[in-house]
Amino acid sequence: MLCATIAENTVNEAIRVGRRARKWCNILELRIDCLNNPDRFPELLERLPGPFVATCRSVKHGGEFRGSKQKRLKILSRAARRGVDYIDVEHDVEEERRKKIGGTQILSYHNFERTPLDLDDLLAKFQNEYADYIKISTYCNTLDDAIRLMELEPGGTRPVILLGMGDYGRITRILYRKTHSLMTYGAANPEQPGAPGQISVEELARVYNIQRVDQSTEVYALIGDPVSHSRSPQLFNALFEEHNLNAIYIPVRMVQTSTLPRLIQDIDLEGASVTIPHKRAVIPYLDAMNPYAEQIGAVNTIARVNSRLEGYNTDAQAALESILNNWPGDDVSPDQEKPLEGKSVFLIGAGGAARAVATALINAGADLSITNRTEERGRDLSEEFEARFVKWEDRADVESPDLLVNATSAGMEPIENVTPFPGDWLHEDTVVFDMVYTPAETRLLKEAREAGCDTITGTDMFARQALRQFRLWTGIHVSPEEIPDLL
Ligand code: NAP
Repeated sequence: MLCATIAENTVNEAIRVGRRARKWCNILELRIDCLNNPDRFPELLERLPGPFVATCRSVKHGGEFRGSKQKRLKILSRAARRGVDYIDVEHDVEEERRKKIGGTQILSYHNFERTPLDLDDLLAKFQNEYADYIKISTYCNTLDDAIRLMELEPGGTRPVILLGMGDYGRITRILYRKTHSLMTYGAANPEQPGAPGQISVEELARVYNIQRVDQSTEVYALIGDPVSHSRSPQLFNALFEEHNLNAIYIPVRMVQTSTLPRLIQDIDLEGASVTIPHKRAVIPYLDAMNPYAEQIGAVNTIARVNSRLEGYNTDAQAALESILNNWPGDDVSPDQEKPLEGKSVFLIGAGGAARAVATALINAGADLSITNRTEERGRDLSEEFEARFVKWEDRADVESPDLLVNATSAGMEPIENVTPFPGDWLHEDTVVFDMVYTPAETRLLKEAREAGCDTITGTDMFARQALRQFRLWTGIHVSPEEIPDLL
């Protein structure tokens, strides 16, 4: 079940937001504590379509109700008498008082600071209490916390709702049907979430299509830190739907690569996109490497092949495709064996993306120079690829290259005002390719255009590398021209 939490301050706003949210969900949670005048909650029952969960949470429990405990419980009894379908009651209300409230009750436990280590004991204790359903919602400080929540077994007869709060907890909210959780909650109004990290109900329904998820849904993930800026969930989930595949793609914020094996096992991961900072660090956790990824020394794609996890890299070919397909003149053709023979390329960066594009550029015959903010990494990469190394502080003096490639995160949100190569250092004959794709128009690209240069966007490459991933996972070929609305 998908429940939309309405946490508005006025009755009119609650009705407006609730009506809009109702089409995405099965049930509405009325956060009576958020209303300026909680006594007016019956108006919501009359003017919104049910079914409903009634919740009146005190400040102590992370809510907004400032009246006495007696008053709070009285509101909940009133809701039960009015036939509200489910009444949410905090676990520390005495059993005798809970019995007096009546109705079908969700016994709820919230912890806004951490996910306790003794979740099993907590759940076992609640299974023996007066309740119809049990809800445990805790703040996840790590991905491990979220995984522990997802691994929790009901351990009794009462159905359970298990949800993680915060960035790390998102996975529990999206994949609730893959766990023992009966229901998930989404914000009716994205501006007014009912809990930290609560995704809007519209996003859960439209982007993740979570009403379709069942035990046999294949799970694909974006693994990295940060992941919230990525457009990959929109793209892949839309492609899965279009091709009628029972699959879901979710962003997973992962700081420690060592959490990967547990994640793979827990959600039965079919495949993944790998991003900053794990492109090299994931390699020891895989069963096999595709030879091209091996040559690059970085993985941006994991695919399950005959139950083995294999590492691939789609960045290199995608970057080269972007360069060749968008090259302004007719002196470069994708059909040539060494299409960039004789072309000078200045590559900025020495991370995973730089490694991938350097491999493709060298294979294509380019004459490569590399610079990087951290000298040692830049020198190491240059040596490995037998490229010229340019010190970071000398990069302005480099002779105008035919192609300049930014493979750093300089200019990527949230540092979009930064550029690795200011516009007044550029010559109009240089083609400028920025791999950064959030924002679509980076400062580097804007200044390059103003300097008269032809430009190639990170969005073009993003589409190409993603569609190669999709093909590796599903065998389906989709061309970039088929997905303009998804980018
Ligand atoms: P990474 O492995 O973490 O490497 C980051 C690189 O950026 C390093 O060279 C780092 O230099 C440099 N850097 C970071 N902040 C900087 C700053 N403020 N000024 C100058 N240099 C800075 O990351 P990655 O995987 O290579 O990704 C790099 C960028 O490429 C990201 O923006 C990513 O989104 C983009 N990318 C795009 C696509 C696409 O499809 N369009 C695909 C892959 C990657 P140090 O060594 O000094 O730290």
